Amino acid sequence: MKNVLVTGGAGYIGSHACKALKQAGFTPVTYDSLVTGWEDAVKFGPFEKGDLLDRARLDAVFAQYKPVAVMHFAALSQVGESMKIPALYWKNNVMGSLNLIEATAEAGVTNFVFSSTCATYGEHDNVVLNEMTEQLPINAYGASKRAVEDILDNFGAAHGMNSVIFRYFNVAGGDPEGEVGEHHRPETHLIPIMLEAIDGKRPALTIFGTDYDTPDGTCIRDYVHVCDLVDAHVLGLQWLLDGKGSRVFNLGTGDGFSVREVIDQSRAVTNKSVPYEEGPRRAGDCTKLVSGSTRAEAELGWMPTRSTMKQMIEDAWNWHRTGHYDK
Ligand code: UDP
Repeated sequence: MKNVLVTGGAGYIGSHACKALKQAGFTPVTYDSLVTGWEDAVKFGPFEKGDLLDRARLDAVFAQYKPVAVMHFAALSQVGESMKIPALYWKNNVMGSLNLIEATAEAGVTNFVFSSTCATYGEHDNVVLNEMTEQLPINAYGASKRAVEDILDNFGAAHGMNSVIFRYFNVAGGDPEGEVGEHHRPETHLIPIMLEAIDGKRPALTIFGTDYDTPDGTCIRDYVHVCDLVDAHVLGLQWLLDGKGSRVFNLGTGDGFSVREVIDQSRAVTNKSVPYEEGPRRAGDCTKLVSGSTRAEAELGWMPTRSTMKQMIEDAWNWHRTGHYDK
């Protein structure tokens, strides 16, 4: 069995990645501090509790499992929080990742898959966002992820570290078999918040800004199903193991949905009304983030199959109704 060290394997995307890795014949070894993750989401391989900033713990885990690669999901990921407490993002996302990348290199592991974000691009009016687009992040979250991309680039040149960097657009949905799903506390993401409002678990969804320069005034995002997203990670891992070298890939569908359009689709899927109110803009939000790249399809052979808005909301709604949100 080939071990893959999965940081953040107890989190939303990491736990889905562990399931996909196991199905592909790898053993996912979860390394997670449980600050934002959930131990009961670790179902597909061993669990090692630890912090990215704990170098001795990381070294011990590398020595025990001798992974063929690292998949690095562990990070703080809230745009709004990153604008209020940027130090958290520089410490956890940048210092933590540097510590991990250094430990990876010193353990002699040269394959690294990294979760980056479309937030590294920032605001680009009427520009198609592809992997060559200039990265001009407007929030600390995006800046912290771009910094880690730079670290990986430097380690590639200096130490032969090969990295596949995925710049995610907005990840949504959940495992159709209901083994794992999205569970953040506090929840900040649009679709789960909306489902909580539909279900009466919160009074209403607040739309963050209705005066953006978009057709209906609300922000536009490109949503990708978490199962499709993690499939790309398995393909990216195989790419590295096949010796194809470092590469950056956007992961999005190329379709943009405004906040109001997501609300309309949720109403249609759940057949329930969506209580919402209109509020001010959230600091750090870009007007529009939509992928304009098909590199992952062309080069990795990635084929998203569940990334329609309807399917993503349906899968999220099914997970929501299992009651996991109430924990
Ligand atoms: N959003 C919103 N109300 C909320 C949460 C999010 O209007 O309670 C909007 C947010 O401004 C953004 C979009 O929904 O335009 C997606 O936000 P989310 O936090 O889900 O992901 P992000 O784009 O920040 O990664």
